[in-house]
Amino acid sequence: MTKTKQGLLIVISGPSGAGKGTVLSSLLKGCEDTVISVSATTRKPREGEKNGQNYYFLSREEFEELIRSDGILEYAEYCGNLYGTPRRHVEERLQMGINVILEIEVQGAAQVVEKCKGAVTIFLMPPSLAELEARLRGRGTEAEEVIQKRVAAAQQELLAAPNYDYIIINDEVEKAAAEINALITAEKQKLH
Ligand code: 5GP
Repeated sequence: MTKTKQGLLIVISGPSGAGKGTVLSSLLKGCEDTVISVSATTRKPREGEKNGQNYYFLSREEFEELIRSDGILEYAEYCGNLYGTPRRHVEERLQMGINVILEIEVQGAAQVVEKCKGAVTIFLMPPSLAELEARLRGRGTEAEEVIQKRVAAAQQELLAAPNYDYIIINDEVEKAAAEINALITAEKQKLH
């Protein structure tokens, strides 16, 4: 009997405002064997965000308990909140041969590279810092102070881009999604 091939673990990072959410929604359309992991966070939900769908919204105590019980694959503090990947769901999907995308920031990505052999890392770049700031403002979901924090964090995050396996520039959503799709297909065919 043939053994089911493990799914591919794909890490996608990029500064807030790089367009990760839009690119990933486009990528997942018609992509049945790939899912996005739902992270846990201590950040408060934005308007329209649903618990269990966008994130698992936890208190700091709940999050810390998850860390203690080894239920978290990786985690990091970002702009004053904790974000992390619940371990069980990811491992189960990979065993079933389903590709799992982690949409996470750079510190968490480094932890995944350490722990998970074979993970493929992709950095999604905004076309420019000016464009990134314009997107953050255009979203209208964050206060000015938060936008400033995120722009500063973005400048730091961009420095980590050379550590990734691939860099994709998001100047056009459909194009960036197609490029990531091509990478996933190629990585799945790899022998070593
Ligand atoms: P946001 O608050 O805009 O939803 O996310 C802020 C940052 O946290 C983004 O860069 C996003 O990629 C990152 N992030 C979301 N979930 C996780 C996670 O599970 N782990 C880590 N390390 N970062 C995450």
